[in-house]
Amino acid sequence: MNLLRSTLLALAFAPAAFAQTNPFVDPYIAVRAPVFALTHARVVDGLGHAPLENQTLVLRDGRIAALGADGTVAIPAGAAVQDLAGKTVLPGFVMVHEHLFYSSITKGPFHVNEMEFSFPRLYLAAGVTSARTTGSMEPYTDLQVKKDIDAGRALGPKLHLTAPYFDGEGTGITQLHAVASAAAAERMANYWADEGFTSLKMYQNLPLDIMAAAIKAAHARGLHVTGHIGRVGYREAAEAGIDNLEHGFMAMSDFNAGRKPGDASSPLANYQALEKLDPAGPEINALIRLLVDRHVALTSTLAIFETFTPGRRVASQAELDTLAPPLRESYLTRWAAIQTQNNPLFRAAFARNLQLEAQFFRAGGHLVVGTDPTGYGGCIAGYGNWRAIELLVEAGLTPVEAIQVATSNGAKLLKIDATVGSIEPGKAADLVVVNGDPTKAISDLRKTETVFKDGVGYDTRKILESVKGLVGIQ
Ligand SMILES: [Zn+2]
Repeated sequence: MNLLRSTLLALAFAPAAFAQTNPFVDPYIAVRAPVFALTHARVVDGLGHAPLENQTLVLRDGRIAALGADGTVAIPAGAAVQDLAGKTVLPGFVMVHEHLFYSSITKGPFHVNEMEFSFPRLYLAAGVTSARTTGSMEPYTDLQVKKDIDAGRALGPKLHLTAPYFDGEGTGITQLHAVASAAAAERMANYWADEGFTSLKMYQNLPLDIMAAAIKAAHARGLHVTGHIGRVGYREAAEAGIDNLEHGFMAMSDFNAGRKPGDASSPLANYQALEKLDPAGPEINALIRLLVDRHVALTSTLAIFETFTPGRRVASQAELDTLAPPLRESYLTRWAAIQTQNNPLFRAAFARNLQLEAQFFRAGGHLVVGTDPTGYGGCIAGYGNWRAIELLVEAGLTPVEAIQVATSNGAKLLKIDATVGSIEPGKAADLVVVNGDPTKAISDLRKTETVFKDGVGYDTRKILESVKGLVGIQ
């Protein structure tokens, strides 16, 4: 009783700053100052330019106030200064397949659990300062998470929310909703737009006429539309006005043997077609040309497909430690089974898709990147973002290009490139500080130390520690 009384008294007389301490946010803040300077930094601007050495950045009121060679930029009196010799500064990542849920263990149909606590933290810790969610399972939880982050009550990136999936009949996931008609698609597009969602996602078995109605209704409201499609081919979707296609070329049904328009989605048939496809042939190059001409962005999600491909890495110890024990066990069991089965089709499809994503990028395509933390697990928010970027380099992009895809290309897709996605004076101070040189070794991204969002620096290690054992639960 006495203790309670004295605590209440202490709170009553505490200075305002102390009273406002938020236990979910403040312990993870490494740097918060109205004016802050970073010196001796290597800067990768996110626009594809060669890195600049020995740079000074001045951050003021959440924005980049100045950038230039050391000694040429005045450091304001009273500014806190951090020496970044040997370190690299990148723009905060803008990644676009960042669900707020993770696959659960189930003996029934595929099921996911909302990760409203751990995933936003993991995304931010890895350097993701803006994220599109690309399909919602708990729309009102997603809305609340965004509200809490924006109000400074929770850690996480600036979220760009995608409404619940627009699917057709036959996908077999109980948590998905089959949209029955064009009129229903229009009604739902308007409903979710009213609720605050800024994009829609078309799913594997949605028919073309309903998809076209959803796209039309979404565009009328200023929303953009992406799709992990299947019943509809890439060409049909592009011609219907879709803005973005998910999963590189892995969800492409256009060249499936014997396919008739309207056939149900068949990932297996997609992979078989990819294995046979000639990347130099006229069919795929005509399709790439169409996507480029119509400005359809393509989202690379190599980190999730890698988990299904035999002969690829197992999750690191840090990733395994992040998973709740039952999820860790189910992931490792399934990973081992994939090695034993050693299915050559997955190897071939994965390799072909790597090649085609780079081909799309080289042809001038708008390539963007995301993690898609689903499947049977093992692709975890945060760590998966680093892996997705590493795999773009394996696909043949330079590290600087891969960083561009993960930053300014994402920002252009979300139409936020006027304020984020590159390191330029006037833009938001959304920055990733890496203790290494990812332009030489992209895996140095794993040496991220501090992530700035709107000028506030967050401690990556502390955040990663805070969610150990939680992924799969919350
Ligand atoms: Zn997805």
